[in-house]
Amino acid sequence: MDALDINGRYSRQVLFQAIGAEGQNKLAQARVAVAGCGATGSAVASLLARSGVGALRIIDRDYVETSNLQRQSLFDEEDARESLPKAIAAARQIARFNSRIAVEPQVADLIPANVYSLLGGCDLVLDGTDNFETRYLINDYAVKNSVAWIYAAAVASYAVTMNILPGETACLACIFPEPPRGTVETCETAGILNSAVNLVAALAATEALKFLVGARAKMRRTLLSWDVWTNERAELAALHPRSGCRACSGDFVHLAGAGRPHITLCGRNSVQIHERERPVDFAELSARLQPHGKVRHNEFVLKFWREPYEMTLFPDGRAIIKGTTDTAVARSLYARFVGS
Ligand SMILES: [Zn+2]
Repeated sequence: MDALDINGRYSRQVLFQAIGAEGQNKLAQARVAVAGCGATGSAVASLLARSGVGALRIIDRDYVETSNLQRQSLFDEEDARESLPKAIAAARQIARFNSRIAVEPQVADLIPANVYSLLGGCDLVLDGTDNFETRYLINDYAVKNSVAWIYAAAVASYAVTMNILPGETACLACIFPEPPRGTVETCETAGILNSAVNLVAALAATEALKFLVGARAKMRRTLLSWDVWTNERAELAALHPRSGCRACSGDFVHLAGAGRPHITLCGRNSVQIHERERPVDFAELSARLQPHGKVRHNEFVLKFWREPYEMTLFPDGRAIIKGTTDTAVARSLYARFVGS
């Protein structure tokens, strides 16, 4: 980090004594993964990028839509028009306000088969996901490899977050051996306030800064929940691993997961298909699909409309099919138009 950054760009943060020039240099050396770049991931990535975290890996499986713009602060209308993958759109936006850091976009679904390559080499993982399946996967990876991570979630007016320092504090499975009740509520059914998102992101990003500058003792050791509408706020002690916790006892069932060939996304009437990696030639496929419906592609996605379905295809062959929650329908559509 040069003097320009210390005295210029980051000067107000360096003036904050608990960070200072030394802490700022540590941030510059840090590598952080943001798993999921929707609302919470956008806000967290934005805060950490502006704070000068040297390297950010942004992992997301989805593409930008207009209904995201109410709360997903790294995206704009143009991104939605182009259906840009969120990881790509996030990296582009961050480069506009901090070109001094490295951002690595990864357009992928975080699954057992790729968790080591996607989270490997990072000092800290931040949770921007929207489901417990992926969170348990991150938790197993983190506990097994002693990598710290920060759980963060928001739905409706409710925000919840916890720091997981493996071997030191409780892990996610210590607190929630099973996915908690209430997770059936999603942003789709219960809606979401952008202020709940920004609250949880601000808390998580601050804990991340403490971790990265070496102020571990200042990190919160509780599960904190906060409802910005009712003003109810609660903390549950998470000081130590729970005896008998599956993950803390070395049973990493989610890492060993047999994979997830089909996933129905967050209640929004779509199915994701990624049965195998099959690189797709967009130009060739585009020509082949032309007679069957409307088709459009750019460097990152191919979109194909065939009423009442809309298929979004990524270069590695993964697809999100909108207009159905029936995996059989989605699979047959995929087989027919992309290949089985
Ligand atoms: Zn545990």
